This record gives sequence, structure tokens and C-alpha cells, in this order.
Amino acid sequence: MSDRPSLWIQNAVVDGETTSLLIRNGVIEALGSDAGPSPGEEVDRTLDGSGLHAFPGLRNGHTHAAMTLFRGWGDDMPLMEWLQTRIWPAEALLTPEDVYDGVRLACLEMIRSGTTYLNDLYWHHETVARAIDEMGLRAHVGAAFLDFGDAEKARAQQKMVLRHLDSRKELGARIRITLGPHAIYTVRPESLAWLGELSESEDLPLHIHLSETRGEVDDCLSAHGVRPAHFLEELGVVSPRLIAAHGVYLDAEELALLADAGATVVTNPNANLKLATGGIFDYAGARRAGLRVILGTDGPASNNDLDMIEEMKTVALIQKHRAEDATCLPAREALELATENPAEVLGWGPGRIEEGAPADLILVDFSHPSTQPLHDPVSALVYAANGRAVHTTICDGRVLMHRWEVEGIDEEEIIARAGATARRVVEKAEPSGRPR
Ligand SMILES: [Zn+2]
Repeated sequence: MSDRPSLWIQNAVVDGETTSLLIRNGVIEALGSDAGPSPGEEVDRTLDGSGLHAFPGLRNGHTHAAMTLFRGWGDDMPLMEWLQTRIWPAEALLTPEDVYDGVRLACLEMIRSGTTYLNDLYWHHETVARAIDEMGLRAHVGAAFLDFGDAEKARAQQKMVLRHLDSRKELGARIRITLGPHAIYTVRPESLAWLGELSESEDLPLHIHLSETRGEVDDCLSAHGVRPAHFLEELGVVSPRLIAAHGVYLDAEELALLADAGATVVTNPNANLKLATGGIFDYAGARRAGLRVILGTDGPASNNDLDMIEEMKTVALIQKHRAEDATCLPAREALELATENPAEVLGWGPGRIEEGAPADLILVDFSHPSTQPLHDPVSALVYAANGRAVHTTICDGRVLMHRWEVEGIDEEEIIARAGATARRVVEKAEPSGRPR
């Protein structure tokens, strides 16, 4: 039984072949040139896929969706100054309803740019989960844990995490949770070890920022005598459940350590470039070590958008540049970083369009001059398109957008509310004496 209407997509292009798809109960039931309902059988909805190319829904491996509220506020600042003088003071003012407004705007942007899954890490996790669920996407929702070295704060944060675990019962089927220590420099070692144990006993992914800046590595070396990945290893946090965002300054030994443990690194090239973190994640080294890599945008205040199609291009370009090798990270591999690789570690099907897979997919229109002529659809998607080429977005068998029309969602209201909320929060948080 399901509230999801059955869906018949006719004559789309899948891997170069004209293919129809029959979707029932959120699953791709049949796929092929003659796939469709049996004679006399009815489907609830038929979509004409002629001329459109189907791809798996894109998966954003690391983001903070509510930070749409701060998009374009505090650009062009160094990372730590930006966090300390803008983002953290403003975030301290956010109410759950503010977060709700920001997350809904983010989901709208993701639906419009072909993303059907996000791995989020933020405050007010219950509200994040509610907003994403209402918008029809899938997600892992992490509750951001920061204690700033304070034992009392740590106890309060532990209670918050236990509430987060309890909340699992009330979550919709498309939402799962992660543990979310912010970083080694904002969370006490004791708290990291506690979260590592919890990740094991509850079998939960542990999502953390790791080795994002040179300063983080230097501070870790002088405080603990080891580099960040080894520090996490000593605390029992390195495991197949570890999802480490950035990893910009991981050296070869750390890459091998993470690979051997079966951990995952999320690379976020646009945010690293914008915040000038200096290093570039060693993707070629990670591949050699056998480390699993996935792709994310990071928060929309440090990117400044959630367009995974643009992110695929950036990761391919920056890695070719770093390796001085144009064959490094070809387009198909960039697509895997946003589809199959995250599916392998975070679940919800194979991240491919195939029979029996969850119906999370997009239809892309390559008729725009910038994607013509069409020698290779994957090349067109990764190197020439952007999110605006996404024509239809389907998640869990539900049509969230078709012909660029978002369905069942009041788009104007979401944009207006997020705008009003963002202005109110930013006005309150504006640092006095800020140079203008
Ligand atoms: Zn982040």
C-alpha cells in the first residue's frame, strides 16, 4: 500500500538508450524500451520523457541547508574570522522557525538543481528533519555538537544528542540521523570519544569536519602531537561509519589510515576555494589508498549555492589541475562522487537507475545551446550544464518538479519567508563597528 501514485516515464534516454520507466511504490519496477503497464492496467500519471536524459538523483554529501539565510552575507572573509564574527553570533540567534525557513529555501533550490538527498549537519535538528521531510527529499540529519572545551556545555550537548536518538521514532521514512561533532577544535576529546562509542553501539554515521585548514593541523600537532586523523583514531572515532568533510590537509599516512578503516571523505571544492583554505584535497592519493570519496557543496554561505552539477565540474577541474593530469577525475567519475559513492556508504539504493532501485531520479534537458551538440550526455552534464538544465526531479517515486514547475509547494511563499527571516537575523547579528 502506498500514497505514491504510479508513474510511467516514456521514452527518456538512459545511458544513451531510449528507455521507458515504470515506477510503483517509490521503486523503479521496470526499465526498458517497452517497459510500461500491462494491457488493461492503469497508471496514475504518464510523463513524456522524449528528448530528456535521465540520471540518478544527485546526492549532496555535506551541507548545512539552513545557511541559505546567510548566503552572500560575510563573503570574502577568512574562514575563522567569518565563523567567529559572523556565522557563530548569527547562528546563536536562530530559532527553530528561522531554521525551518532556511531549510525549505535550500530544499527548493535542491529540487530545482536535481539533488534528491542531502547529508546535513546543523542546529535545531528536529526542525531540519521536519522541513526536509515536508519538501519530499531524503536526508541524513546530524545534530551539530559543539562544546568549545567546556564540560558543562558538553553535558548539555550529550542530552541533546540523546534526544536526537529518541526522535528517530518520529522521523519519516526518508529521514535518518547521524552524530555530528563539529570539528576537533570545537569539541572536547572526551566528547569525541563518547560520540565515537555511540556511533558504534547505535550503528550511526558520524559526520565531522576534518582537516579543513592548515591551522587545524598545526594546532592538533602542538596540542596532541599527532595529525587530526590520527587524533580521531586515538579517540576511537575512525571507523567505516566516519564521514569526514573536507580532508584538505590529510597526508598520505592519514589517507591510508582512513582507507584501511573504510571511512569516507567528503570533498567540497567550491567552499574550499572560496574560503581560500589553501590546500586541495589529495584525490589522486585518496584513490591510490582506496579511500571512498563523495562530493558535497558545504553550506550555501560558503559556496554560495547548492548546485551539485556545478560542484561536479569544480571537483573535476581542481583535481586535474592539482594532479597536472587531464585524465584525473573524468566526468563519469565526478558523477559517481555524487551518486554511486554516497549511496554505497549512506544507503537508499545503488545511486543508479536500475530495476528495483528507489525512484530517485532527474530528467535533464540538454536542448540549451550551451549543451549542444551532444556527443556525450555525461560530459554535457558535468562540464557544460548547471542546475537549471534539470527539467524534472523525482524522489521516492514522487514528482517534485516537472517542466521546471515545482509541484505541491508554494515557491513564492518559501522565498519570501526565507528572505524576511534572513534580513531580521542578519540585522540583529550585524557586528558593530564593522568596516563598510
Ligand atoms: Zn561544513
